[in-house]
Amino acid sequence: NAKSLGRDRIELFTPELLIKAKSAHTLHTDLREALADGQITVHYQPIYGCESAEIKGFEALVRWRHPKRGYISPGDFIPIAEETGLIVELGQYVLRIACAQCHAWNVQFGRELAISVNVSARQFADRGFIRTVTETLEASGLRPQLLKLEITETVLLGGYGGIGEMLSELRSAGIKIALDDFGTGYSSLSYLMNFPFDILKIDRSFVSHIHHDFRRSETVRKIVELAAILGMRTIAEGVETAEELACVRDLGCDFVQGYLLSRPLAPEAVSALLSLEIKAAQSPSSKPVHSGHFTAL
Ligand code: C2E
Ligand code: MG
Ligand code: MG
Ligand code: MG
Repeated sequence: NAKSLGRDRIELFTPELLIKAKSAHTLHTDLREALADGQITVHYQPIYGCESAEIKGFEALVRWRHPKRGYISPGDFIPIAEETGLIVELGQYVLRIACAQCHAWNVQFGRELAISVNVSARQFADRGFIRTVTETLEASGLRPQLLKLEITETVLLGGYGGIGEMLSELRSAGIKIALDDFGTGYSSLSYLMNFPFDILKIDRSFVSHIHHDFRRSETVRKIVELAAILGMRTIAEGVETAEELACVRDLGCDFVQGYLLSRPLAPEAVSALLSLEIKAAQSPSSKPVHSGHFTAL
């Protein structure tokens, strides 16, 4: 009846919801400005080889320092950028900066480091996406084999037709595709069969306290086996302790990433870290270098 309908309507417009909607709107406007003003930067989290304990590449992670509100986490503004479509521009910006930066390090340090860039579902809906990626790569000078695009299952669920074809097209250009946060979300095994991934990133929720939890470690063991069968490599995400590191290495993960080895770093800090790696490699008692005070490997 009308009365209960009215009550329902009022519930739809609670003050909290209004505030939320308003702040999302402000955030969107601010983000638009931020892109133009250079408030958006990219930080880089090193990804290490499990065996060699060497830096193999980085994940590019977007950072926003708001002039009034300070640091805003990507977890808070990426969803808004996705809803409003601004993610297309933001994603393109991060891709351009990250590819150019990675190439500059490779030239400077004589390395073949890879760069992983997160891509949202919305970006795949953009007609020009593939061309934008290949053109950006070419302009950066980076070899396509050193670019890894990280996608989550939402990309596969996104309802945009032809995702499989788009991924294949990117791969035939030499670009690698990583499935991010694997094991969370829907994790349908048919995705693994039907989409061409090069890398599985095993979500932190499986890695955290893995050494205390037999079921968790056996699950990761099977994920690693499955990846091997399908010709994919694995990254353990969110490794925070030496015990977790030892465990995922024993389970045969190819790469590790996490606060234990390094937090995401500003570009200057990465340069310093890479210089240290070179010095360490030249010294006789060569020891792996991490940004933290860890001797975990
Ligand atoms: P993600 O792609 O899964 O990135 C990994 C997140 O885990 C990053 O959070 C990273 O800082 C954090 N992390 C790494 N190691 C550890 C650890 O040992 N412990 C813990 N607790 N966390 C760790 P961040 O930078 O806050 O980014 C959050 C998410 O925002 C990312 O998750 C990604 O989904 C999204 N994101 C970040 N940058 C971009 C971007 O440029 N484009 C898009 N589309 N999404 C982005
Ligand atoms: Mg990622
Ligand atoms: Mg992840
Ligand atoms: Mg994530």
